[in-house]
Amino acid sequence: MIKGSILVGAKEMGSGSFFTAVDPATGEQIEPRFASAGAAEVASACALAEGAFADFAATTPEARAGFLDTIADNIAAIGDDLIVRAMQESGLPRARLEGERARTIGQLRLFATTVRQGDWLDATIDPELPDRQPLPRPDLRRVNLAVGPVAVFGASNFPLAFSVAGGDTASAFAAGCPVVVKGHPAHPGTGELVARAIRDAVSACGLPEGTFSYLPGASNELGGALVADPRIKAVGFTGSRAGGIALMKIAAARPEPIPVYAEMSSINPVVLMPAALAARGEPLAPAFVQSLTMGAGQFCTNPGLVIGIAGAALDRFAKAAGEALAGSQATTMLTPGIHAAFDKGVAALASHDKVETVARGCPASGPNQAQGALFQTDAASFLADAALGHEVFGSSSVIVACRDLAEVRQVIAGLEGQLTATLILDEADEADAATLLPVLARKVGRILANGWPTGVEVSHAMVHGGPFPATSDGRTTSVGTLAMARFLRPVCFQNLPAGLLPPALAEANPWHLARRIDGTVARPA
Ligand code: NAP
Repeated sequence: MIKGSILVGAKEMGSGSFFTAVDPATGEQIEPRFASAGAAEVASACALAEGAFADFAATTPEARAGFLDTIADNIAAIGDDLIVRAMQESGLPRARLEGERARTIGQLRLFATTVRQGDWLDATIDPELPDRQPLPRPDLRRVNLAVGPVAVFGASNFPLAFSVAGGDTASAFAAGCPVVVKGHPAHPGTGELVARAIRDAVSACGLPEGTFSYLPGASNELGGALVADPRIKAVGFTGSRAGGIALMKIAAARPEPIPVYAEMSSINPVVLMPAALAARGEPLAPAFVQSLTMGAGQFCTNPGLVIGIAGAALDRFAKAAGEALAGSQATTMLTPGIHAAFDKGVAALASHDKVETVARGCPASGPNQAQGALFQTDAASFLADAALGHEVFGSSSVIVACRDLAEVRQVIAGLEGQLTATLILDEADEADAATLLPVLARKVGRILANGWPTGVEVSHAMVHGGPFPATSDGRTTSVGTLAMARFLRPVCFQNLPAGLLPPALAEANPWHLARRIDGTVARPA
């Protein structure tokens, strides 16, 4: 049930200031109104999280996995109310949100399985060598421990999978960290339903109430206060570049700076290699446009840049893509603000004197609808103006025509950090592609061949990250089980009495972990 409350541990609170959600399809406000959390609630939630930390971090893998599974069960049990509210608040269609719910639940269960397996602890034992010359080696045992309470900021474009119980929250819980969520103002009702599901799981699993708090609000001050609170030890964020950078600055200016794992902006270059472009440029175009316009293009992996060598084949691709785009319906965007930013970005490209408009999609027929846009420019113009490489969040893309492969390489080398890069290639392109790979690998977190970047698998090998500004820390990922590593830190115990060792490092190996002993992984029988 949606009450518009702030959830600080087990307590429900109101406040003196309120905000409402807006249905982007109608532009109208949606009931009920939501209490805005303020400094007092931030302080209470962080104090409770700090109080919960020791007990929650000490839970066994089985207990913690059970908690993640219970959250998944509780989200499933909300039923259709969750989908209906998310549709109303986001403008996203039912099928997309049902898929996103399945992904969110699957993600929680994947983390539960991973926690049970225990490899993330990276339990490592270098037994003592008392007779070693010239000096004996001490007994050294290392394990990964939770960093402390984590602040999570969800994104508007995934109201379930990147929000209250999304990948940041799931991975922080999996690592043993209490979580304080700053609710996204675009989907507060959806957020509250999920927050209640988590809170019920905390209680059902007998965990300390401060394991989770939910702070709804529509103000930069709220998020800033949360990141500044000394009890918060790391931040997970998905959203705008401006928002991510603002939080990075607050975190860095604290007396005790903390890491911010922000996933921000990416234009996801697609490179059309010459043989593939010549052989199948036209049939590729509809698939490209589908990837570009899906969900009104509101994906962090949306293909916002297409790079190819100028000539008849690229012209045929552009023509076919333009025709496909011209038939694409305008689609409701997530918020009036995102729609306004999209229109502004498209208008800037359309009026740029070095940019040609290849095609626009069908015009809008209702509020906040995105009319797709495809542009073309040449490599020299692209390289001369950094603004042409900035993200326009939505279904907008720029084709960059290059003189030759060397210029393709130059364009890639000039790009900012990206989440993905895609190579469309045939066998005859592989030798040329091999020369681009090292340049691409320096720029991105994931390189795809012959696919489209939208669609991010939640798995063990996935990297949804990349150098700045794709993220604030290109050494990690916000999707997949590796995301847990962001909220863990290694601690080494030297010559500790056996009775003081954590279970993961105890001689009896009570959690039946695979452990690296003197450099060799030993699996329990
Ligand atoms: P957003 O505006 O950055 O908001 C994300 C969260 O951060 C919200 O809870 C917001 O709450 C908070 N926030 C934003 N700026 C802040 C600041 N200066 N200080 C403290 N808190 C701040 O992101 P969004 O609404 O999800 O999407 C808007 C834009 O983000 C899009 O146009 C797109 O460019 C980008 N985006 C990128 C990705 C990606 O993965 N690359 C995904 C989604 C969106 P308050 O507004 O209440 O402060």
